[in-house]
Amino acid sequence: MTMTANEIRDSFKKFFESKQHAIVPSAPMVIKDDPTLMFTNAGMNQWKDIILGTRDPEPRRRADTQKCLRVSGKHNDLEEVGHDTYHHTMFEMLGNWSFGDYFKEGAIDMAWEYLVDVLKLNPADLYVTVFEGSPEENIPRDDEAARYWAKHVPEDHIINGNKHDNFWEMGDTGPCGPCSEIHVDSRTPEQRRQSGISGRDLVNKDDPQVIEIWNLVFMQFNRKADGSLEKLSMNVIDTGMGFERLVRMLQGKHSNYDTDIFQPIIKAEEQLTGLKYTTFEEEDQSNQNNQSTQKNINVAMRVCADHLRAVSFSIADGQLPSNAKAGYVIRRILRRAVRYAYTFLDQKDGFLYKLVPTLVSEMGDAFPELKAQQQLITKVIKEEEESFLRTLDKGIALLDKAMEELKSNGKSELDGVQAFRLFDTYGFPLDLTELICRENGFTVDEVQFNAEMQKQKERARNAAAVENSDWTELQAGEQQFVGYDYTEYSCHILRYRKVTQKKNEFYELVLDYTPFYGEMGGQVGDCGVLVNENETIDIIDTKRENNQSIHIVKKLPNDPTAEFMACVDTDKRNASAANHTATHLLDYALKQVLGNHVEQKGSYVSADTLRFDFSHFEKVSDEQLREVERMVNDMIRQDIPLDEHRDMPFEEAKQLGAIALFGEKYGDKVRVVRFGPSCEFCGGIHASSTGRIGFFKIISESSVAAGIRRIEAKTGKECEELLYQIEDTLKAIRCFFNNAKDLEGVIRKYIDEHDTMKKEIESFQAQAVERAKDQLLSKAREVNGVKVISAILPIDAQSAKDLAFKIRQAQPDHLLCVIGSLYQEKPLLTIMLSDDMVSEHQLNAGQMVREAAKLIQGGGGGQPHFATAGGKNADGLSAAVDKVIELAF
Ligand code: ATP
Ligand code: MG
Repeated sequence: MTMTANEIRDSFKKFFESKQHAIVPSAPMVIKDDPTLMFTNAGMNQWKDIILGTRDPEPRRRADTQKCLRVSGKHNDLEEVGHDTYHHTMFEMLGNWSFGDYFKEGAIDMAWEYLVDVLKLNPADLYVTVFEGSPEENIPRDDEAARYWAKHVPEDHIINGNKHDNFWEMGDTGPCGPCSEIHVDSRTPEQRRQSGISGRDLVNKDDPQVIEIWNLVFMQFNRKADGSLEKLSMNVIDTGMGFERLVRMLQGKHSNYDTDIFQPIIKAEEQLTGLKYTTFEEEDQSNQNNQSTQKNINVAMRVCADHLRAVSFSIADGQLPSNAKAGYVIRRILRRAVRYAYTFLDQKDGFLYKLVPTLVSEMGDAFPELKAQQQLITKVIKEEEESFLRTLDKGIALLDKAMEELKSNGKSELDGVQAFRLFDTYGFPLDLTELICRENGFTVDEVQFNAEMQKQKERARNAAAVENSDWTELQAGEQQFVGYDYTEYSCHILRYRKVTQKKNEFYELVLDYTPFYGEMGGQVGDCGVLVNENETIDIIDTKRENNQSIHIVKKLPNDPTAEFMACVDTDKRNASAANHTATHLLDYALKQVLGNHVEQKGSYVSADTLRFDFSHFEKVSDEQLREVERMVNDMIRQDIPLDEHRDMPFEEAKQLGAIALFGEKYGDKVRVVRFGPSCEFCGGIHASSTGRIGFFKIISESSVAAGIRRIEAKTGKECEELLYQIEDTLKAIRCFFNNAKDLEGVIRKYIDEHDTMKKEIESFQAQAVERAKDQLLSKAREVNGVKVISAILPIDAQSAKDLAFKIRQAQPDHLLCVIGSLYQEKPLLTIMLSDDMVSEHQLNAGQMVREAAKLIQGGGGGQPHFATAGGKNADGLSAAVDKVIELAF
C-alpha cells in the first residue's frame, strides 16, 4: 500500500529514533541572528555552532525534518522552480547527524537500511557517488566510503564524482569534507527502452527522472583562510534528503507535483482558474507535440503551488515581504508567482491568497504555526498581490508607451537600459518584457540589459564586501556569558581576527568570560571598555554569532594575552534594559486591550527608544493607546521585581504560561523572564524591577505592512526630555496670546475671527470688481472701432481675472481690455480679447503679454484671448499697459 506524505515523514523520524537519535524540531526557515545567512538552506545550519565547536554537542545523534529555502546566496534554485519537476524554493530536508559519534560506515549503513529495508525502494534503481579525489589539493579518492557502499551495491552502481558534486564546504573557510549522494533512476520501463542509456550514465546529468535524493556529508577537514586543509577536531556526519523527492519515489510518481503534497493545491488552482493541469505523463506526451500553451499552464501552476508554500511559511516565521534584505527575497518570490498567474493563468486579480486555506488544511497539522496565523498570511499575501498587480499595470502602460515611440521612430528593438529600469522599478523580469515585446513585434537588447544588471551587482558587491582573516587562537576554550549578573568581569582574550569592510578595518574578539551582551532578539549590543593598568581598549559594539558575544574593537591591545577587566557602559545598558522590559509590559497590555490575536512580529530596543511590531488588523484608536499606556505605567509604579528562570525545561516554561514566538529557535532549556502577569521566553537584558523604567509614553502608532502595526515609545529620562520640549512649545504659544489662561478658547476665537474677516474681504473684493466693471465700461475709449479698456487697480490676481471675464461678458465683440494690477507690491498684467480680435485681427494675448511684461521685469503667457504676466518692477506697470495698446494697433 502506498504511504502518504505524512506517514513517510513520520517513518523517517521513527527509524532514526530506533537508532538512538534525538528527534528535534525544525529550526525556523527565516534566520534572524546570523549576518551571513538570511534563510535556512540546509538541515545543518542550525548546528553550525556545534560543528564549529562553540556549543555542547550532546546529544551526539540527532534527526529532524527541516524547512529549507533555496532562493539566494550559495543555493539559488528559483529560476528552475516550476520549469522542472524536482526543485522547489521551499522544501523539507530530512536529516540525521552524528557529532563525533558514528562516521561514514554508520551513515551509509543506516541510509541503506532505511531506503531499502524499511521503504522497499528497489536497489537496482539506486546509484551512489563517492568523491574521486583532488590531486592538486592532495586529497585521495574516498575509498573508505566506496568500501562501505560495496557492502550493499554492485561496483557498477558506485560512481566517482568531482569536487563540484562530491566535496562539501561550509563556506570559503571552515569545516568541509567529501560526500556521497544517493540517486534514483525513476524512469518508466518505456523510457528506459526508448533511451537505451543506462541509469549510471545519467547520474548528475540533469535528467529529470534520474535525480539525487539524499546527500551524506562526511566532514573531516577544516579549511583555513589561506586555502589549506587541516584535520577537523571532531568528525561530523551531516545528511540531507529531499522529502518531496522521496515521497515522489515512494508514491511511484514522476514529478514531485504529482504527489499528495502538491496535488490538493493544484486541484484548488484548477478550480479557481477553470484550467487543467496535466500530469507528468500527459505533459511528456504533449511536449512531443509541442503544445506550449498547456506547458505554460503547467509551469505556472507549479510555480504558484511552490511559491505559495515559501511565502506562507516565511510569513508564519515572521518574515514579511518588504523592500530590503530577506523581506525583498520573499517579495520577489511572491511577485514571480503573480507574474506567472497573470500571464499564463489569466489571473488579473489577487489569486494566491485564495489557496491559503488548502495549504493550511494540508500542512497545518505538521506545522501549527501555519494554522495559528492563517488570517495574517492571507491578508499579507492578498495585499502584496494587489499592490504588485497595480505596479504591473503601470509597468505595462510604460512599456506600451515605449513601444509606441519605437514604432514612430521606425525602430524594432527596445534598449536594455529601459528594460532594466522596468525590471528594477516595476519588478518586470527580462522574460516578461521580452514576452510582451515579442507579442507586439519588437525585440529587446538583451546584451545591454545584462550589462546593466552586471553593473548593479557590482555596486552591491562592492558595498557588501567583507574580508575575514583566520582566527588567531590565544587560548582554547568556550566563552562564558556572565552579563545577566555582572557588568564588569575579569577576562582573557581567547581568540581574535581582523575584518576588513570597505577599507574599514576592525577586530573581533572572543573573551573567556564576558558581561557584554551581543545584539540579539532586537536588543542592541553593549559597548564599553577592556582595561588593565597598561591600556584601555574601547569596545564599540558587541554582536552575537554562533552562540557567543563577538566584541568589536578598532585596535588590538599591545599585549593581547594580558588579563583585562571587561566593563560595560552601564548608562546605556540600563537604559536599553529598561526599554526591553517596557516592551514586555507593552506586549502584555496590548493583548489585554486589543485581544489575544496580538503577536509580536519584531522589536528594536536601544538606549533611547523602543519599537514594537505586532499583528493587528486595524488602527489602534487613541483611547486604546491611552488605556495601554495607563496599564503599562501602572505596572511600572507597582515596581514588580524581575523573576528570571535560566535553564528551565521548555515544557515547564510553557506550563508557566510563557509566550513563545513563531519563527524563534528555542533549545530544550530556555530562559523565562517574568514581571508579574507578563511572562515571556527571552534571552535579553532586563531591568531588575519595573520601577526602573520610570515612565512610559507612546510616541507613534502606524502601519508597517498588511496586518502589522508598529508602536514607538520612550521611557524614563527620554520622557522627561519630551515633557520639557512640550512644555517649552506650550509656553511659547501662550506667550503669543498674552499668557491667556484659557489657551484653547483664545485660539478658537482667533480662528473664528480670521474666518469671518476672510469672508468679508472676499465679499468686498467682489463688490469692488462689480463697481470697477461698470466704471471701466463707461470710460471705454474707441479706437478704430475697437473698445479699448485699460486701468491700473489695487486688486489681487483672482479679482483681476474675474474682472476681465466680467468685462468680456458685457462686451463680447471688438474688445481689448488691459488691466495692470498691484497687490502686495507685486505688479500683474492681465489681457483679455474678444474672439473676433483673435480671429479677424490676428492678435494673440499670450504673445502681447510676454512682450509687455519685459517692462515690469516679468514673464507669463496664456491663451490667444486671455493671458497674464507677473513681474518684479511695479514702476513699469503703467508703461506696460500702454505697451499692450501700442502692440494692438
Ligand atoms: P541538486 O543537484 O538536485 O540541486 P543539491 O546538490 O543542490 O541537489 P544538496 O545540497 O546536497 O542538494 O541537498 C540535499 C538534498 O536536498 C538533495 O539530495 C535533494 O534531495 C534535496 N534538495 C536540494 N535542493 C532541493 C530543492 N531546490 N528542492 C527540493 N529538494 C532539494
Ligand atoms: Mg542544488
